[in-house]
Amino acid sequence: MADKKRIYLCLAHMSEAGLEQKYIKEAFDTNWVVPLGPNVNGFEKDLEEFVNENQNENEKLAKRVVALSSGTAAVHLALINCGVKAGDEVCVQSFTFCASSHPITYLGATPVFIDSEKDTWNMDPELLEEAIKDRIAKTGKKPKAIVPVALYGVPYNVDRIMEIANRYDIPVVEDAAEGFGSRWKGQVLGTFGKYGVLSFNGNKMITTSGGGALVTNNEDEWREIMMYATQYRESYPYYQHEKIGFNYRMSNICAGIGRGQMTVVNEHIAHHKKVQALYEQLLADVKGVSVHKQPVSSFKFQDSGVEVPVYDSNYWLCTITLDENVKIKGQENAYKTIVTGAVGGAAGVIHAASSAVTDCQPNDNVEALRVYMDAAGIEARPLWKPMHKQPCYKDAPAYLNGVSEAMFKVGMCLPAGPYVSEDDVKYIVDTIKSAIL
Ligand SMILES: *Cc1c(COP(=O)(O)O)cnc(C)c1O
Repeated sequence: MADKKRIYLCLAHMSEAGLEQKYIKEAFDTNWVVPLGPNVNGFEKDLEEFVNENQNENEKLAKRVVALSSGTAAVHLALINCGVKAGDEVCVQSFTFCASSHPITYLGATPVFIDSEKDTWNMDPELLEEAIKDRIAKTGKKPKAIVPVALYGVPYNVDRIMEIANRYDIPVVEDAAEGFGSRWKGQVLGTFGKYGVLSFNGNKMITTSGGGALVTNNEDEWREIMMYATQYRESYPYYQHEKIGFNYRMSNICAGIGRGQMTVVNEHIAHHKKVQALYEQLLADVKGVSVHKQPVSSFKFQDSGVEVPVYDSNYWLCTITLDENVKIKGQENAYKTIVTGAVGGAAGVIHAASSAVTDCQPNDNVEALRVYMDAAGIEARPLWKPMHKQPCYKDAPAYLNGVSEAMFKVGMCLPAGPYVSEDDVKYIVDTIKSAIL
């Protein structure tokens, strides 16, 4: 074990051919070391080709993509273009990373958190509709946008969410940051709503070191997003600004990495799916441990007769849940060390009354398993803590069914990146088995 390499959750992985470095070198050689240039344009073209490809040949899309400095920036600009302003409300999935909801507050608007459905862990359409009706009744105003999230890559129920959004005429901003290349009925996530958010942070499906993109529906929206991303600078010989913009455009260096990464994105996705399948197989008979899987059903294109899965997750991260009755080695010490550290190393001080971690945290056995795996050189992590349980959102309205909180308490993310080999998965599963008492 001592000589075993550490297995990380999801590490960036460059193309074998080293194309990322070739594109970066080109940027230096041609002096395009700025937040625009040939790599940015090339990366956007690659992204457009990727998101517009539909598994039904006859349904090719014509989306336009803007490359940005982060996925968070993409959420921010999408909300601006949905007309979100101070005092407005936006319905957003509670079970997510904070980048889905924080930009709502940047605009002085209020997130309205929507809990998850059991099977996908994503925005529950029924709660969404309940929330829309209730917000209209309580505030006299419709929420300005709806932000569903493809958690760990698994698609949300696109049909139901789009149907509700269309019925109430509320724009959808799809947060596909974790679901890059995941599909719903053969079509790539991020292409159903008014806007689609992509992220290329270091640990995502592909990386530009840090970066993101916004998928837009047409030339006009594309142009407007581009204006906002470049300080809303008008075309005069001097600097003329009609609106407040942002410095959110992707750098030409980062885009060079992105162009190289786009040559291996399909391999990456295939690898993530293979790792997921192996976890499912090897953990199938481990009592008390369940692998989170997408719903299985298929869909047939009427014209071509081609059949595809309804849900097609990229399985960005593999996630498991641990039955609360399962006993894990070292469970009696769970949280002791962490809480000690958190209160400044005062040994033995646990469950300090003011400590936020005690109010809603993964079960002791989950924390014990994380610590056990860490000692075995495996990085595992709790699921995202639901936003409605975060202190910074304690006053935000939330429409709840208990699913996200319950999953947060029993769930865990396992390593899944391109560096995770078949042997690694076997080792991880063996480690989990040996941790169980
Ligand atoms: C990663 C991520 C984002 C975007 O994050 P950036 O780090 O700003 O690129 C947005 N939403 C979700 C759910 C994410 O996981």
